[in-house]
Amino acid sequence: MRTIERYESQVRSYVRSFPTVFERAKGALLWDREGKEYIDFFAGAGTLNYGHNNPKVSEALIKHIQADGIVHGLDKATVAKIDFLERLQQTILQPRNLDYMVQFTGPTGTNAVETALKLARMVKRRSNVVSFTNGYHGLTMGALAVTGNDFYRDESYGVRVNADSVPFDGYFGADVNTIDYLRKLLQDGSSGVDLPAAIIVESVQAEGGVNVASVKWLQELSALCQEMDILLIMDEIQVGNGRTGTFFSFEEAGIYPDIVCLSKSLGGGLPLAILLIRHELDQWQPGEHTGTFRGNNLAFVAATQLFDYWETDDFSRAVVHKGKHLRKTLEGFTKDFPEFEMSVRGKGMILGMECPQKGMASAITTAAFERGLILETCGNVGQVVKFLPSLTITEENLNKGLAILKESIETIQENRAKALIGEEV
Ligand code: PMP
Repeated sequence: MRTIERYESQVRSYVRSFPTVFERAKGALLWDREGKEYIDFFAGAGTLNYGHNNPKVSEALIKHIQADGIVHGLDKATVAKIDFLERLQQTILQPRNLDYMVQFTGPTGTNAVETALKLARMVKRRSNVVSFTNGYHGLTMGALAVTGNDFYRDESYGVRVNADSVPFDGYFGADVNTIDYLRKLLQDGSSGVDLPAAIIVESVQAEGGVNVASVKWLQELSALCQEMDILLIMDEIQVGNGRTGTFFSFEEAGIYPDIVCLSKSLGGGLPLAILLIRHELDQWQPGEHTGTFRGNNLAFVAATQLFDYWETDDFSRAVVHKGKHLRKTLEGFTKDFPEFEMSVRGKGMILGMECPQKGMASAITTAAFERGLILETCGNVGQVVKFLPSLTITEENLNKGLAILKESIETIQENRAKALIGEEV
């Protein structure tokens, strides 16, 4: 840890939340250098939906490397890329009646978002883009302009141009229809909001606090985009790849976005990002948008294996089942500890526990880490504990993690009681 402190920039972050040196990981478990075990309810911020070192992936990668398979290929044709494209079409897109071209972007989520914004602006010949309060789309300049939380922004970056932020579903409570509000802004030439090339949205705002857009709201948003000739960009980077119980989080809404950004769990832990774009929007000139690391063949090999999970409905059903169990247990905790005024929300296996009392969410994640459970906070002021276990987690490990969580809240309760009677904690 001294090496990290001495040589790694101040910008380092998760090492501060989880101050230990990790050595090994398997499935939903991690071990540090001292051999202490941790249950992972964070899964690389939604990158390890299929668990750490998924055996399907490890085996295929070893085979690929031993056979001197291509590792880096720019965007040349490779066997691994063709396998990936075919499996994506056959297993994911065609069964859902989704007809998209695939664009390989740089390997991170923010690269996909940058590309989506650039493409939308180029196709529509309009520079404005609309995003939502509490949205998070990455931290490079274009993506940062559509990211809500001011912690990440600074006037001096000068990036917040051609971007308007409007209220997400539920921002003013359940009674205000924020699509009506948006429609009025877009239709009124005097509102100050220029007609955008695109609207970018997460169906569940993950970093923003696990805010779930209703199916109806998504449908209305999609209809508004069509009505006003605006492209709809779904950012599926954190909540795609099965996180909400279906491969795409927007499936239940039955909408057909113009552009979909996918990354994180797509490569099973290896860097990979793609855009799914409607045919008619694929208006790039050859080579007009490139990048050295668009052809991560190891990630293609991993991703192709992981599509196996989507051959039948079994995996999806298991995610829904585990998600319900997780939610029910968390709701039980909110009742067990009424004094903390906590509440639960989410969809599938992304759940958030809102902790309105100052410092409570971080007190929980700190106490949990000490007891061997990895959890992070999210939300506009870090007031939400986020639950993102791998989708492949066993019920046993899920329950073990939940037991640690309960113990952590109990400890906070005891410490608070002691503090009230003046005892040292
Ligand atoms: N969009 C969403 C919805 C995300 O959750 C994230 C990452 N948390 C990003 C974009 C950016 O991805 P990356 O960190 O890989 O650039």
